[in-house]
Amino acid sequence: MASSLQSLRKEAADCRACPLWKNATQTVFGEGPLHAQAMLVGEQPGDKEDLAGKPFVGPAGRLLDRALQDAGIDRSLVYVTNVVKHFKWEPRGKRRIHAKPNGAEIAACRPWLETEIALIKPRVLVCLGATAAQALLGKSFKVSQQRGTFVPSSLAPRVTATVHPSSILRAPDDDSRHAEMSRFVADLRRVAGELK
Ligand code: SF4
Repeated sequence: MASSLQSLRKEAADCRACPLWKNATQTVFGEGPLHAQAMLVGEQPGDKEDLAGKPFVGPAGRLLDRALQDAGIDRSLVYVTNVVKHFKWEPRGKRRIHAKPNGAEIAACRPWLETEIALIKPRVLVCLGATAAQALLGKSFKVSQQRGTFVPSSLAPRVTATVHPSSILRAPDDDSRHAEMSRFVADLRRVAGELK
């Protein structure tokens, strides 16, 4: 089975199923143990992840690390991935600014995620942010209203959604950043409760 995940990663490295590979450095495949109990699914790799070839290693990844630690979840027991595996961006001066993937790109990339889920078989699947939640739980899913609740889904025994850690980084001031971080950790504590 481990070799299946490795073969999948190798195959995904050459994926050309949508145009996003053209402007990205490399495919950023999921990462974590084969028998991870929890799978966290974000939107797409960011600038740092694109360069490193690893998911959640930039500022949002560091915030996620802290939140997982505060919630009592060891990141090394968690598989992290994204609904889209190439970085979509627009130039702004010398910077590469995140651009939201469209429905066709998300649909083209979905077979990779579905195979990751089938191989890992996580007990708990957590969508991070609206793009992942709506791709996996339906267009009508509202993260703002339904975050932290477990919803029926065939994807895993327990499925939930919360915000993407990058949204906490974008909070307008320290007070709202701290408040958002507390809510994020509270959502992840509910996930921790399912892992015991
Ligand atoms: S974003 Fe997904 S579907 Fe598109 S080229 Fe990359 S791996 Fe393939």
